[in-house]
Amino acid sequence: MRTRWRATHVLAHRDGGHALLRDGEIVWEDDTILYVGTGYDGPVDVELDLGEALVMPGLIDLDALTDIDHLVLDSWGPRELAAGLLWSQDYFDHRRRHVFTPAERATVREYALVQLALHGITTYMPIASEVHSAWAEPYDELVAMARTSRRIGLRGYLGPAYRSGVNVALPDGGRGVAFDEERGREGLRDAVRFLDHTAALGDPLVNGVLLPCRIETLTEDLLRETAATARQRDVLVRLHCLQGMAERDLVRELHGTTPLGLLARTGLLDTRLLVPHGIVTDRHPDAHGEDRGDLAVLAAADVSVVHCPQTSLRYGQVLHSFDAYRRAGINLCLGTDSFPPDLIRGMDAGVHLAKVVDGRTDAAPAEHYVEAATLGGARALGRADLGRLEPGAQADLVAFRLDDIRDGVQDDPVRTLLLNGTARQASHSVVAGRPVMTDGRIPGIDLANLRRRAQSLFETMRAAYGERDLHRRGAGELFPPTFQPYEETSR
Ligand SMILES: [Zn+2]
Repeated sequence: MRTRWRATHVLAHRDGGHALLRDGEIVWEDDTILYVGTGYDGPVDVELDLGEALVMPGLIDLDALTDIDHLVLDSWGPRELAAGLLWSQDYFDHRRRHVFTPAERATVREYALVQLALHGITTYMPIASEVHSAWAEPYDELVAMARTSRRIGLRGYLGPAYRSGVNVALPDGGRGVAFDEERGREGLRDAVRFLDHTAALGDPLVNGVLLPCRIETLTEDLLRETAATARQRDVLVRLHCLQGMAERDLVRELHGTTPLGLLARTGLLDTRLLVPHGIVTDRHPDAHGEDRGDLAVLAAADVSVVHCPQTSLRYGQVLHSFDAYRRAGINLCLGTDSFPPDLIRGMDAGVHLAKVVDGRTDAAPAEHYVEAATLGGARALGRADLGRLEPGAQADLVAFRLDDIRDGVQDDPVRTLLLNGTARQASHSVVAGRPVMTDGRIPGIDLANLRRRAQSLFETMRAAYGERDLHRRGAGELFPPTFQPYEETSR
């Protein structure tokens, strides 16, 4: 089947880079783009005129929240409350459990994947908070998630997250890691089993990858085995690291080296590695505040940094800096990492954070961020056929409306979208030539019903923080409201 979209703006690809096409057309057949230009004269089966809109490559989110929002709970509290959101040693030893049933977890995943689709994301690599589960991510849960992902039609790079240990809050106010090494080995075995599962599925939209949790929660052995498995199976690895000073301190204490040193020592730098955040390198002001070679090491190993500007901003962090990493030759791709999965707002936040960090308005222009969200993501995945709209590439695309008076006046459609817009303007998307979102709707998904179920699961999740807290404080104490409820205000 052959489909044509028309729109006032198409972010096309030619001669190795994106190019803005005015009053453009894009035609695809089955899963492959046939034509991008202004005058296709062949026959088409389906036709859609999107009017004033920007059609661009579908957004690639490589740290995509597939969970219920937790940032709304944990991004604003004082230090003593933040510690209460971790597990206590007592919870680890005696009471750890899954907060959700498998059926509830399936709803959580469906809710999150629908959110990604609604925000114009077409390719994702998931991240979920393991804090609500008895350990990490069970194999069966990922099998169910792959099923949901196929039903919605997104392109996923999945695997069950695994770890040997859990961050715990210590009575002295510090943070440690409590280990159960056998659970870690079991997790890697499940991850390998999942690679076999995806290979057997033979669906190009479900790709198996290795997703160990965070560097400080894996033993050195498990990091080594992960690297060996990745090389043997030729699969991608994504490992949260270079994320914060607490991680750096823990890794120094446990291994006597920096997180980057540990990546090198365990062979992970020799894998096709994606590093979400990547904030704490030697350039970070709390590390050395100057370049001592870390960026060159990352670039030489062809590590992709999954930059998550909106999440970083909301936890008070920033990359030092987008431009420095880019100039060093590091492949930058993007992630949303937390709710909302709005890469348009994320890119906008990144552009402006970069201005503050580098002290100039052209530090990281919109086009560099759009490249990271498309071409950078494709490069991280080793996919020359994603992230670009040109004949022969996969038909993964998204349309953002630009026809609302609140969008403001039109100049450059990319700048207009980033400065004035949001990913909520996504109206249509297609993955491998098949519609995922049509006119803001996802076929077969009852959004009102899903919204109600997710709210109820959120209440369950919120209530469960107290049982893990070192001081067993209730949700009312851990998550005080902005203002007191009106009726309880004393007169
Ligand atoms: Zn993350």
